[in-house]
Amino acid sequence: MAKKSRHPETIVLHAGWRADPTTGAVAPPIYQTTSFQFQSAEHASNLFALKELGNIYTRLGNPTTAILEDRIAALEGGAAAVALASGQAASAFSIQNLARAGDNVVSSTDLYGGTWNLFANTLKDLGIEVRFADPADPESFRRATDDRTRAYYAETLPNPKLAVFPIAEVAAIGRPLGIPLIMDNTAAPLLCRPLDHGAAVVVYSTTKYIGGHGTSIGGVLIDGGNFDWEANPERQPLFNTPDPSYHGAVWSNAVKGLGPIAYAIRARVVLLRDLGAAMSPFNAFQFLQGMETLPLRMPRHCANALAVVEFLKGRKDVAQVIHPSIQTGVKRERADKYLSGGYGGLVGFELVGGREAGRKFIDALELFYHVANIGDARSLAIHPASTTHSQLTPEEQLATGVTDGYVRLSVGLEHIEDIIADLESALATAG
Ligand code: PLP
Repeated sequence: MAKKSRHPETIVLHAGWRADPTTGAVAPPIYQTTSFQFQSAEHASNLFALKELGNIYTRLGNPTTAILEDRIAALEGGAAAVALASGQAASAFSIQNLARAGDNVVSSTDLYGGTWNLFANTLKDLGIEVRFADPADPESFRRATDDRTRAYYAETLPNPKLAVFPIAEVAAIGRPLGIPLIMDNTAAPLLCRPLDHGAAVVVYSTTKYIGGHGTSIGGVLIDGGNFDWEANPERQPLFNTPDPSYHGAVWSNAVKGLGPIAYAIRARVVLLRDLGAAMSPFNAFQFLQGMETLPLRMPRHCANALAVVEFLKGRKDVAQVIHPSIQTGVKRERADKYLSGGYGGLVGFELVGGREAGRKFIDALELFYHVANIGDARSLAIHPASTTHSQLTPEEQLATGVTDGYVRLSVGLEHIEDIIADLESALATAG
């Protein structure tokens, strides 16, 4: 029954786990162990040869973490998932799993700042070029493509612009060319399932809404199982040529018997093995706990954010409010097409008083926490011009959508009257 359910409310409570067969424990146990004893020499040899899947060593996989992986894969409609130490590790692995030095990836310009740095600097130093394309114009992805392009990359609901990415449009450009679309869905779990719209891989920072309580850093990669890695062998050499690091395995073929999970398997047995950014089982437990209430939390985040938008709209001290619910034209069409579960918990707004007003506003908040994070149960705020974006030139700030008076809110689950009261008094102080 739980296995067959397509309802997120049921999946988050049941997928991947049913009472422990030896103890009867209902909550998933934390398997705090590095290693797993093999049943026999033959069993060990089958595991290493990938003839069967099983536990070897927690850097490669762990039973607590596997429950989280199964649960997130089920929630997204994917074939398999790989949990990682952080969202950053998930973004890095998503690219390193299919591109090597000399290759390139085309990414949307609208990215979390950490991903931007990873793409523009660190991957570049490793020889992987990331070309940036305009998410407002899906055809710009095609124009940036050449023979060495291995993937397209974007965020479903990127902040600060909060303009929803044209997932199906860009996925449709890539598929005939053999190019998978990787979507970072961190800001929109449950609101959007990128795989349903043609994405091939989903990335999460589970640190945010999946965990939901600001306790643990983690990430996950979900293999949609919906991409044919063999169809264009020249396009995806890492999946179609023998891998010297794994006895000459050809990944599009090597694990066919285990399902359409070539991408997930390669990420696990090559990248986790070699780079080691594994999620700790304790954090996996925290994320499992968080996920159980995700279908209750997301609608409340969305409803509170809508009420905040209503409050901010039309105020004399607020120059502009940024939220998918009040966008117009093609932006609004995309928001309605892809965010079928609600517009999310992030709200941006610009203070008429600019940088100084932004600083005063942040310092005057009493309920909202002043942090760089998003997706906590508590309400959070940041003034990018004096923190994350303080080193940018005015032109760069404009390109990222951050102006001097811009404030980002991650609206939490508190009573809406308390949220509004805090905003109201901080706005009064900011002047
Ligand atoms: N992707 C997005 C959209 C994010 O907002 C973040 C973190 O803020 C990350 C990735 C990176 O995740 P982590 O902080 O878990 O490494």
